[in-house]
Formats: sequence, structure tokens, C-alpha cells
Amino acid sequence: MISHVNHIGIAVKDLEQAIENFRKIVGFTDVHTEIVSEQKVKIASFKIGEVLIELTAPTDESSTISKFIEKRGEGIHHIAFETDSIQNDLDSVKNLGINLINEYPVFGAHEMLVAFLHPKSTNGVLVEFCQPK
Ligand code: ZN
Repeated sequence: MISHVNHIGIAVKDLEQAIENFRKIVGFTDVHTEIVSEQKVKIASFKIGEVLIELTAPTDESSTISKFIEKRGEGIHHIAFETDSIQNDLDSVKNLGINLINEYPVFGAHEMLVAFLHPKSTNGVLVEFCQPK
């Protein structure tokens, strides 16, 4: 079952520049950085209350983040809802007619299982389900 918003992903071109910029804006002190090789991205995340903001930059031109930035520019990329039963939730939204990008969860940042729903089915917002391991 979905419980809360876990994080908001923001697509950025230059991770270091974005970290410093958001540090000015919201003044976080702790930042976690990580390379997610499966998705060809590097991320930097910081927590505001219960929600992580996840700055995401491509490590490779073939990354989907690269293509997103080419098409739409930098900006909000996805919203991630946390669940304790990711496969059940994927199956149940699929049964309700929602198109999935990932039929099965894959490994994402923060050692979580993640799966994306197709933005054509979610009013143009890329939606992620995530489940901490
Ligand atoms: Zn995410």
C-alpha cells in the first residue's frame, strides 16, 4: 500500500552546480551522493522534513535523464510514492488500466526497489513507486 511521498526527482545537467544552488535556496547540511549505474545517473539527495529531494544528472548520453533534459530542459522529473508492497501495487494499478514502464521493480538509489508508471497514464507526471529493502 502507498503510504507517503518518498522523494521528488529533479533532472539537472550539472550535479555540482545544482547541489550548490539548492544549498543556497534551502540550506541543507547533509547531502548524499550516489551513482546508479543501472540507470546511468548520478544523484544527490537531501531531506526536507520527510521528503527527499533527489537531484539527478545523467552519466551518459544514452541515459533517459539525458533524453528528458534534451526534450524538456531541466526541471521536475518524477514524484516517488513509497509502498511496502511494490509488486502488488504495480499489479493492481496495471489491472486498473494504468500503463507501466517497469512491470517488475528494479534497483534504484538508496537501496530501494523502484518501478515507473508511464506518464501517458499519469496525467503527464512520471510516477515512481519505491520500496525500501
Ligand atoms: Zn526516484
